[in-house]
Amino acid sequence: MPLVPMKQILDEAAKKSYGVPHFNVNNMEQAQAIMRSASEVESPVIMAASRGALKYTDLIFIKHLMMACIEKYPKIPVAMHLDHGNGLESVKTAISLGFTSVMMDGSLKEDAKTPTTFDENVKITKECADYAHKFGVTVEGELGTLGGIEDGVGSGVVNLTDPNQVKEFLEKTGVDALAVAIGTSHGAYKFKIKPDPDKNLLAMDVIRKIHSMVPKLHMVMHGSSSVPQELIAQINKNGGKIAPTFGVPLWAIKEWIAAGVRKVNVDTDLRLASTAAIRKVFYESPEKFDPREYLGPARDAMAALVKERFIAFGSASHAFDYAPATLEDMKKFY
Ligand SMILES: [Zn+2]
Repeated sequence: MPLVPMKQILDEAAKKSYGVPHFNVNNMEQAQAIMRSASEVESPVIMAASRGALKYTDLIFIKHLMMACIEKYPKIPVAMHLDHGNGLESVKTAISLGFTSVMMDGSLKEDAKTPTTFDENVKITKECADYAHKFGVTVEGELGTLGGIEDGVGSGVVNLTDPNQVKEFLEKTGVDALAVAIGTSHGAYKFKIKPDPDKNLLAMDVIRKIHSMVPKLHMVMHGSSSVPQELIAQINKNGGKIAPTFGVPLWAIKEWIAAGVRKVNVDTDLRLASTAAIRKVFYESPEKFDPREYLGPARDAMAALVKERFIAFGSASHAFDYAPATLEDMKKFY
């Protein structure tokens, strides 16, 4: 199967009311872990590269990693997505590499730090959506800002999405999916206390209100790692120093999905899983020095986590529900 437009993966998820995890990739082990587990549980895949990843891994290496994924697993639908594009140039770069989806994060200025006004957001997002749609490429926008800063992206300030602005934003920009802010943060430090249901740390009412106003919208949730406590414990037990922190519980993500969230971004959890596995090897077997002996366990740990998420979000067993759409099909649609 070639790369598919992300819109198809989200449209199919909406039909059957499940969510699809978005996993960030920076290296071969991550890409292999994601694809191995997707193949085992038969899930469609959304693989994302941030601008930081394109810089770290290099454009050509990312491109060929993505091609290796679809060559090795030809039956699994894969969308390759640009995470947090910051302007037309980053969108153009991703499309020239063959990405089938781009995020234009117009909630922040090009510095990826300073929040924009609604009108500034509309202007840049529409410009990018018009460009991407000419190629049949899916576009995700963002309205509202998340907490936390990761890969240099983020104002660090939470501005919840105003449900009353969503319809106008969609009409003016034409985006296919929208990231909304309800109080999640990028990175590992999301909550200082365990977010139990009675604590109401996440503004569920915002999602429900948006879903009732625009039921067909594919909502996207950034900053949705669960920060498993056993991984934090394993890291700290083996010489790490991660301060106490909590992520988004899986029960909350399941509620989001029931309320119209179709794409759930997970990055930190893979970082924690690989770090925990590598630290364990280093601590328990200090005589080892072959990278395969610690990157291999890191890959296995990421694969196990990825598999859990495919199952928990409901995308497992849906890889073969549909025939792949092409960017040509999508060009006609737009
Ligand atoms: Zn994000």
